Amino acid sequence: NNHLENEDPEVYNIIQHEQWRQFSSLELIASENFTSQAVMDANGSSLTNKYSEGLPGARYYGGNEYIDELENLCRKRALAAFRLDSEEWGVNVQPYSGSTANFAALTGILSPNDRLMGLDLPSGGHLTHGYQTDKKKISSSSIYFQSMPYQVDPATGLVNYDMLEQNTHLFRPQLIICGASAYPRDWDYARLRKIADQHSSYLMCDMAHISGLVAAQEQNNPFEFCDVVTTTTHKTLRGPRAGLVFFRKLAPITGKPTDLESKINFAVFPSCQGGPHNNTIAGIAVALKQAASPEFRNYAKQVKLNARVLSDELTRYGYRIASGGTDNHIVLWDLKPVNLTGSKVEKICDLVNITLNKNSIVGDKSAVTPGGVRLGTSALTSRGLGENDFLKIAEFLHRTVKISIDCQEQAGSRLLKDFVRVAESNADVATLRNEV
Ligand code: PLP
Repeated sequence: NNHLENEDPEVYNIIQHEQWRQFSSLELIASENFTSQAVMDANGSSLTNKYSEGLPGARYYGGNEYIDELENLCRKRALAAFRLDSEEWGVNVQPYSGSTANFAALTGILSPNDRLMGLDLPSGGHLTHGYQTDKKKISSSSIYFQSMPYQVDPATGLVNYDMLEQNTHLFRPQLIICGASAYPRDWDYARLRKIADQHSSYLMCDMAHISGLVAAQEQNNPFEFCDVVTTTTHKTLRGPRAGLVFFRKLAPITGKPTDLESKINFAVFPSCQGGPHNNTIAGIAVALKQAASPEFRNYAKQVKLNARVLSDELTRYGYRIASGGTDNHIVLWDLKPVNLTGSKVEKICDLVNITLNKNSIVGDKSAVTPGGVRLGTSALTSRGLGENDFLKIAEFLHRTVKISIDCQEQAGSRLLKDFVRVAESNADVATLRNEV
């Protein structure tokens, strides 16, 4: 860090402040994690200087002998981390991030205006799974393809597979996407495969949130039933910010070769991207080695255990947890029964150094004022927190709700700006911040 401190103290200081923020707060954002120093060393290395468009052995630039070795190692480790046979599965490790991995997958397997179905954003799905509103196509995945989202059942908070199946008969999608950003339950891939097969649709899983848990065999295995599996590498997988696309080389039952390898590789480069970020690929390789270790399996188990404890304890305090619990690292907390919005609780949490995000809960009247917050246990589990710590965190969260209710009453209006004004001078906020 000496170079940075000497040459650019302004940037250096910002990084120091952010590092302190990360260290001193309780990080409950479900999509974040603390990657290891080894991953950060790889990510901040001289590999950032190199151009290497193309694939190992077939580059558009010279001087790539070590980069080829690195990318091959990363691909090998990616398959190994998910116990995949290199005859049956291949992987592209070049996507810059989860969104680009998804768009490359769509570009590879669909033609413009083809039809796709993904979990709706208000149901917990991701933007890149075809998100659009009644008024507007939002994501490029709904601008360039036709999208008909499926939903969770508002009564149970679980994916409504029956409704999805009925709608596939109307919409006849070329692609069904499963996986989500705010879904606390596991997926029924066998059922999805059956639904997809009725209209010869591709089945793609975006396992971004749960890929670390899948690697540790703590979730159902999407590779058993899907044609394509995408992921980010920086959530439960605990690597640098990037994406991966896995594709089936042989069809599941017939064992016949698919054309997915050439389609996906061509879609990543040259259709969607230019030169890969080799420093990031090195970081992914390091993270994948870690993810294949026995320590990582214990970590993934603890992530789930902590989420269950957090969910149970909040339920014990009388709160409503969407879907009634969790199978993974996510707890989706519905604040409508206590008459609060996610924005207000997020604000109080920010003031007391607890970091989380507001999240819509299925059945919210308006998507603009989400009715809940999303909590995740992967980051704090990386910092060594266990069940007792999460009981304490549940108590802190309970107190943030009590403070939010007080501030809402004192503000005398429902506007967020009045709420913030009152919150900033609330004495209980200062007390709680000290305890956190
Ligand atoms: N897919 C899912 C399920 C996600 O939750 C996210 C991000 O939160 C992404 C894709 C996009 O990843 P990125 O932010 O790296 O583009």
